Amino acid sequence: MTGVAVIFFGPPGSGKGTQASRLSKEMNIPQISTGDLLRYHVSQGTELGKVAKPIMESGALVPDELVTQMLRERLAQPDAVLGALFDGYPRTVAQAESLDKILAETDKHVGVVLHVDVPDAVITERMLKRAQIEGRADDTPDAIANRLKVYREKTAPVARRYEASGVLATIDGDRPIEVVAADIKKVVEERTAAVA
Ligand code: ADP
Repeated sequence: MTGVAVIFFGPPGSGKGTQASRLSKEMNIPQISTGDLLRYHVSQGTELGKVAKPIMESGALVPDELVTQMLRERLAQPDAVLGALFDGYPRTVAQAESLDKILAETDKHVGVVLHVDVPDAVITERMLKRAQIEGRADDTPDAIANRLKVYREKTAPVARRYEASGVLATIDGDRPIEVVAADIKKVVEERTAAVA
């Protein structure tokens, strides 16, 4: 039996983390969020955390090799044997290429890539609101603008790769959480055999 990878793809503030967390419980496979893993390294003051901290605060991307090594280690944990939901990875074409290799090595395939689509104006509004509640270091207006720019320039092109291989599904993320979740569940059921 091979494992399945479900990739959440979308701009910061699209709600992909919220949706990945729900689907993770439903499918009983772990959510692997590179943003959360990196924030953990920062909070623990590890070598990786020390490198990542100023980069994350500016809204730029942590170097591919560092993130990929971290992801490779996470995916080697026993809970990910049957599959994983990726949230925030891959974020560059190079990361997508690395992920293909890692999945092949661990006998997994990409079941579906869920592109959670939300208009820019809605995203900026959501993120500024979240900044007031959570106080994340990278939710300042400058860092938000930079993260959106990085998304457009470096991450959005990754979608074409998955579109070409027929695994991309676009979900309208500008609707209530429950409605988006129901839509995602339906698409995942259609495209993978992993949800009963
Ligand atoms: P958001 O999706 O709201 O930007 P994340 O928690 O996914 O939030 O990521 C926060 C920050 O962590 C990013 O701006 C970036 O600096 C870093 N990061 C997360 N995932 C990656 C990745 N795959 N490659 C490089 N940097 C990453």
